[in-house]
Amino acid sequence: MEFSSKLIEKAVNEMSQLPGIGKRTALRLVLHLLKQPKEQTGFLSQALIAMRENIKYCSSCHNISDSMMCEICANKTRNHQIICIVEDIRDVMAIENTGQFRGIYHVLGGKISPIDGVGPSQLNITTLVEKVKSGSVNEIIFALSSTMEGDTTNFYIYKQIADCEIIISTIARGISVGDELEYADEVTLGRSILQRVAFEKSFKNN
Ligand SMILES: [Zn+2]
Repeated sequence: MEFSSKLIEKAVNEMSQLPGIGKRTALRLVLHLLKQPKEQTGFLSQALIAMRENIKYCSSCHNISDSMMCEICANKTRNHQIICIVEDIRDVMAIENTGQFRGIYHVLGGKISPIDGVGPSQLNITTLVEKVKSGSVNEIIFALSSTMEGDTTNFYIYKQIADCEIIISTIARGISVGDELEYADEVTLGRSILQRVAFEKSFKNN
């Protein structure tokens, strides 16, 4: 793509680094910003910089947070003995939207995926195992998407905590195999948490 302006070219190049944004879309967005009042671009860049500089990760569940402890972990009315294991903040948001879960979360930050070079040590697994072994947990619920990576991750964690005397369950598969959690509708996702099944049953029946 040939640009008549180096400034436009630089903005387009940066914008097209984002996932799903090709050069043409980036150019459309850049030209759109140019047509908007100048402040609009200021608000956008300030929001991005503030987000990048001030965002924190909850010291307990690793969810993205504005403070050292996220609002869910800091909420004393929630059941801290039930932990729902999810991949990232999008899953936390999807489950919170169902209004059906009153426990807390543990955010792994991804799934084990040898193809993508993601091993267990890159995920927040150790802190979860420590939490379970400390005896403060009654139940954990696996809520990863039912892809091969999700199943591998569930099983890796399960092996490390199978000896602990807690309930280990997995969300019911109203969520079809291969579906990402965030795309499930709220009713289906809510039901699949309420009708969760014992984890051992889930893989022994297969
Ligand atoms: Zn938290």
